Amino acid sequence: MNPASVFSTDIAIDLGTANTCVFAHGRGIVLNEPSIVAFNTQRGTVEAVGQEAHEMLGRTPGHIKAVRPLRDGVIADFDAAEKMLVHFVRKAMGRSAWRRPRLVIGVPSEITAVERRAVRDSGFRVKASEVHLVDEPMAAAIGAGLPISEAAGNMIIDIGGGTTDIAVISLAGSVYGRSLRVAGDAMDAAIMMYMRKTFNLYIGERTAQQIKFDIGSATRLDESLEMDVKGRHVMEGVPKTVRVTDEDIRVALNEPLRQIIQAVREALERIPPELCADIYDRGIVLTGGGALLRNLDHRLRDDIGLPVLVAENPLTSVVLGAGAMLGDIGLLRKVAAN
Ligand code: ADP
Ligand code: MG
Repeated sequence: MNPASVFSTDIAIDLGTANTCVFAHGRGIVLNEPSIVAFNTQRGTVEAVGQEAHEMLGRTPGHIKAVRPLRDGVIADFDAAEKMLVHFVRKAMGRSAWRRPRLVIGVPSEITAVERRAVRDSGFRVKASEVHLVDEPMAAAIGAGLPISEAAGNMIIDIGGGTTDIAVISLAGSVYGRSLRVAGDAMDAAIMMYMRKTFNLYIGERTAQQIKFDIGSATRLDESLEMDVKGRHVMEGVPKTVRVTDEDIRVALNEPLRQIIQAVREALERIPPELCADIYDRGIVLTGGGALLRNLDHRLRDDIGLPVLVAENPLTSVVLGAGAMLGDIGLLRKVAAN
């Protein structure tokens, strides 16, 4: 560790649609919480942020409203986004909150200039000395250990909550980038719809996500999985439990997965042939929580016919990449999208 970093409070943030991670230079990942803010609409105050707000989701009384400010990869609620960012930075800095940190913030690749400015302003509001914005797919590629500076094509697919970002990077620049609004949330929504259509069962988002974690998959599993799901019967309005299998959930997830695969195909069609050849040799790297869906790598490999690897820490690739920039000014200069 660089001796100076003992005192360093420089911070990298992955402002994800589902989760926010914070990395402190010299300390590593210091915070990883859901990107959620709960407002008290009667008093106009923030009731809770992050994990605490997540626990309120779906169970809030009328006057508490939980929002995910970046839900679709755009900042739907500036005020909430700022409150969240400020809260997380202060929490991560703890007792050194009086220092003026340098901030590297990973932002969704499709946010507008106005949104960028809003994020940057929020950074300065926590008294940052410098604020650097970096595209999340670039940070993900660095965090996943891809040789982004080489003159060769690297394809990264970051499947988060709100968006799937597909990027092709060469010579530290983005050659192709697309943000598709089909990712983890869409998978949860597809499970909710399937449960309603097939079993007449209403379930909430959290239950749908739990089903995806516990028995979700993208291709047939060696050993089948099943679970009992509690919900409310659509017609009778009463609580009901049904037994669901991995096969059910594969059917449910088919449409969102098809859309993601289609977008990857389009990306491969649009990039220059040399880069395409590089990707055939090196393979595609998956990051983001969605990469953890069972056998998603196999499904992509089978459908597209090229090697697919899941990054070692898919949920933290972005923040690790952004964190790496804190210690490497040269890299930061090369890739910061200011
Ligand atoms: P973001 O960067 O948009 O905040 P993340 O990379 O943190 O998103 O990923 C969050 C998404 O990953 C959520 O939709 C979550 O349901 C999904 N996810 C996390 N773990 C798993 C898993 N084991 N299987 C399937 N999906 C997962
Ligand atoms: Mg992300």
